[in-house]
Amino acid sequence: MKRTLLCATVLLLSSLAAGAGGPLLVGSPSFGVDGQPFVWNNAQPVQYRVDSGTLGMLSSATATADLANAFAAWTQLPTVALSATNTGPILGVTSGHVATVADFNAVTGSCDSGQQSPMIFDSNGSLFSQLVGDASVIGFTSPCKLSQDGHIVSAMSVFTGGSNLTEQQQDQVMLHELGHFFGLDHSLPGVDPCGTSTADIAALPIMYFQLTSQAGLTSDDKAWISWLYPSATFNSVYGTITGLVLFSDGQSHVQDVLVAAHPAMSGTTAGEDRSQAWSSISGFRFTGNPGQPYTSNYLACTPASACPHGFYGNNADGDSFGSRNAALLGWFEIPILAGTYAVEASSINDGGVIGPNDPIIPLPGPGEYWNAHESATDANFSTIDCTVPRQIDYVTVQAGQVTPNINITLDNTAPTFDIFEGPDTTSSGNATGVHP
Ligand SMILES: [Zn+2]
Repeated sequence: MKRTLLCATVLLLSSLAAGAGGPLLVGSPSFGVDGQPFVWNNAQPVQYRVDSGTLGMLSSATATADLANAFAAWTQLPTVALSATNTGPILGVTSGHVATVADFNAVTGSCDSGQQSPMIFDSNGSLFSQLVGDASVIGFTSPCKLSQDGHIVSAMSVFTGGSNLTEQQQDQVMLHELGHFFGLDHSLPGVDPCGTSTADIAALPIMYFQLTSQAGLTSDDKAWISWLYPSATFNSVYGTITGLVLFSDGQSHVQDVLVAAHPAMSGTTAGEDRSQAWSSISGFRFTGNPGQPYTSNYLACTPASACPHGFYGNNADGDSFGSRNAALLGWFEIPILAGTYAVEASSINDGGVIGPNDPIIPLPGPGEYWNAHESATDANFSTIDCTVPRQIDYVTVQAGQVTPNINITLDNTAPTFDIFEGPDTTSSGNATGVHP
């Protein structure tokens, strides 16, 4: 059985369901800071409270100590400016232990009000079976209160003792859920056109949506937490690759494409070291639902109170999260160590929910490597001969510098528009023509 690590915001706050590659939540014109991630205010230590119960085979003391180690793994990276403090047992429940669904609801209420950020230990799994009902889910995290100025005020993580996890596995779950707690979304390491290798598996980040073989944070995890909370040394260690993913017209942006970078490695067929990866999702700062008027009165629901404004199709209000800046629709950025890299675009085909859109939008063309003469007809994944060295143009990154314009024009995508619409003249990909 595959074990899934959920952010499961649907369960607790349906409005927070949309994530983004890199940051979990991005501000919109009406909430938070437009196009910027929601983060904790790191001027003070992040305060959390810990369930006083056991966690499966772990005693309360062991589970609490392991949790502190997981917090430290994220906060003590030299490129990260972040600290966290255990301020005591969970408030508002008997002996500081969440034992029942009623306890859980009470603690959720005080988290939503910003009173506390609880770390809940479901000692024997009974809460998970009642709240989640899916035995493959072994943890979830939800932001509880967000501020208008773009900060996470409170959040909660919930761990199950009912899945026979070893201590090492529980430690991995803690690392993963605390990544969400600090504001990270799920992440993927890229898709090798010649099949998943042991190197690809080694590159799986702790923020992958399933339990990995990782004992700690990978290059991608470290880069993104540092990007969210950069310390004074961030710019002496990390640079950034930025660019757009485009349809074959070379203009229209494509959202929700996985863009991954791997270090150049000469003398190998792959031409890259796939055991290390850094990745981003195109359009991660852009909303998954900009809102539009065309279906606002489509399919009335009965009773009318059963759906917003009385119609199933009403999404005129759009999402509370994500920018509406059209220049960000296909934009990606990868915080990455100084070095030389192969950059690839591939589909988010991994089953996990990642990026602004849910369900995931398939890549509209074959995956491919970026090259120095990007066009709609350059070599792509489908033409790679896995027995000969790949022809890859590498991208060089320097610390403290942006390597810009690593734009990827996807090969052989379908035309963006039909014959009834005029040529696209906007970067947002909106047709300027009129339907007959
Ligand atoms: Zn997760």
